[in-house]
Amino acid sequence: LTLLNNIQQLPPDALFGIKQRYTQDSRANKVDLGIGAYRDDKGKPWVLPSVRSAEKLIHEDPNYNHEYLGINGSPELSSAAAKIVFGEDSKALQQGRIASVQSLSGTGALHIAAKFISSFLPGRSLYISEPTWANHNAIFKSQGVQTATYPYWQASTKTLDMEGFLKTIKDAPTGSVILLHACAHNPTGLDPTQDQWSDIIDAVASKDHIVLFDSAYQGFASGDLDRDAYAIRLGVEKLARVSPIFVCQSFAKNVGMYGERAGCFHLVLPEQENIDTAKVKGAITSQLSSLIRSEVSNPPAYGAKIVAKILNSPELTKQWHQDMITMSSRITEMRHELRDRLVAQGTPGTWDHIVEQCGMFSYTGLSPEMVKRLETQHAVYLVSSGRASIAGLNHGNIEHVAKAIDEVVR
Ligand code: PLP
Repeated sequence: LTLLNNIQQLPPDALFGIKQRYTQDSRANKVDLGIGAYRDDKGKPWVLPSVRSAEKLIHEDPNYNHEYLGINGSPELSSAAAKIVFGEDSKALQQGRIASVQSLSGTGALHIAAKFISSFLPGRSLYISEPTWANHNAIFKSQGVQTATYPYWQASTKTLDMEGFLKTIKDAPTGSVILLHACAHNPTGLDPTQDQWSDIIDAVASKDHIVLFDSAYQGFASGDLDRDAYAIRLGVEKLARVSPIFVCQSFAKNVGMYGERAGCFHLVLPEQENIDTAKVKGAITSQLSSLIRSEVSNPPAYGAKIVAKILNSPELTKQWHQDMITMSSRITEMRHELRDRLVAQGTPGTWDHIVEQCGMFSYTGLSPEMVKRLETQHAVYLVSSGRASIAGLNHGNIEHVAKAIDEVVR
């Protein structure tokens, strides 16, 4: 037993720690703006109507069962998933340049990417934005991938630090891996414009870097799948002759599959004459199978069945598009209402960034002390960085939140 005596107690995970304190809080007016999960206007988790319909069809199927999927997961899922990321008429798809496997949601896809980099691209550093989703660092470090950061958020202006971003890409050792948030950057909610994306991808190409797109919010950010895939498709087009591209795709937010862990990992091969695409793709797919097999044997089936059902049925797909509009427009409405209330109250500071940012989160600019006071005095919970999950706002709590922010800012 003494062998285990020296194991150090770690503090709770910052985000899940907030959830725990929120759950234990007995104040009636408490508000959870911590965890990034969609809530309806009553503050409740929302099962998408397209998901309800898909589940009904799955349960009614006389062949319904709980058999294992193959090692690489459901091909019905991964091939349909590739089409929404890369586009129905993607040249890379038509040319058979994309290897796709199912993963345990976005985190699992990132884990596959990390294992792939440590096995086949050893010694290359991975560049992540400062700030970024808290788990990025941990996932890559756990696989021995060296991480570095590129500047992203300029706090004084609440805008993108393009100059610092581009400089870091250009200064990074040739062939580094650059992690880019495909849309709805977490935690800032601040995305590059289309022109800025073009400059970013050009900088990447100039150094033969490899891009890893983290796509956790496609369709959830704007309500439009194509719009939210702009950066990925531009990257695939512009980098086609340069380097491979990785895409880590999550269905947690856009299909609301959070706990069902549905996602995909895609690897786009470059378009080069001296590459036997079919052979390389076969080899890569076999290696992906081998690493998945030793870790999870095969991925979870239920969420994959639901997402595959939605993506492969035109009627359910149509409903799903509507569902994403429902979610993204409610979030947009809450952004506007919060900004308008803060301005109307004369709360010190500027608040337009709340409506200019997109996706699940707003990087409010509130200091850690203000965030602490929001929690202790007003039962409003958010991350100490000032990141607020806008999906946690609704018509029942927004007045309380706006007044609480006003009190802590003054
Ligand atoms: N990447 C980003 C930027 C995220 O915000 C998240 C979830 O919050 C994920 C990946 C992965 O989420 P999941 O593993 O639930 O798909």
